[in-house]
Amino acid sequence: MSQEAQSGVERTKKCSKCKEEVLYDAIKCKHCGSELRSWPGQHPILSKFIAYSGLLMLVLIIFIWVLNSIGSIATPVSKINPSPHREQVSSVFDVPSLLGKNINQIRTALGTPTYDKEPTKLQLSLGVTEWDKSWEREGADLLVTYNIKTKKVIDFFIGGVDPSGSTNDKKLLLDVAGLKEGDPKYKLEFVEVRVPKPEPGFYTGVKVMPQ
Ligand SMILES: [Zn+2]
Repeated sequence: MSQEAQSGVERTKKCSKCKEEVLYDAIKCKHCGSELRSWPGQHPILSKFIAYSGLLMLVLIIFIWVLNSIGSIATPVSKINPSPHREQVSSVFDVPSLLGKNINQIRTALGTPTYDKEPTKLQLSLGVTEWDKSWEREGADLLVTYNIKTKKVIDFFIGGVDPSGSTNDKKLLLDVAGLKEGDPKYKLEFVEVRVPKPEPGFYTGVKVMPQ
């Protein structure tokens, strides 16, 4: 039997307990006497109370949220942490001043290298022609590659400007070495991170090739 009302016929429903047909508006089943109203129907005052306290809670939550929003808008600018912003980096290594100097003259200018090993006789006999010396200052590294025989510098490499070992900040790399892009006295090559995995846009350092 359908619960839908039909014209001329009184609307009925089935008792949930005994499954007998009862009037749609019946409060108790005439067959088994069981309660036919839903829980709110049986407890009108209690269900109203629950509904109102839910509404009150919602209003309270919205009120607190609005207060909070106003509070954060009103926070003085000085209390908000400034966005990360680095000051102009003064150069740690003045690479342009080293251009044209041989490795001995650079050694005089910069002092004893942090890495100051000489090639072994075995390495020389194996045909090693280039060697490196490196200086570390304020965490940054300057690696100078030179020709062992002529002492002439082949290139400079600036690295270690970030403790992580790489940086995506080209300007920082240049500032550390006092370099400028577009200077005809040298060519620049930003060396991208290749190991442990390639990271495009991140550089281990910048290579400076005197022209
Ligand atoms: Zn019944």
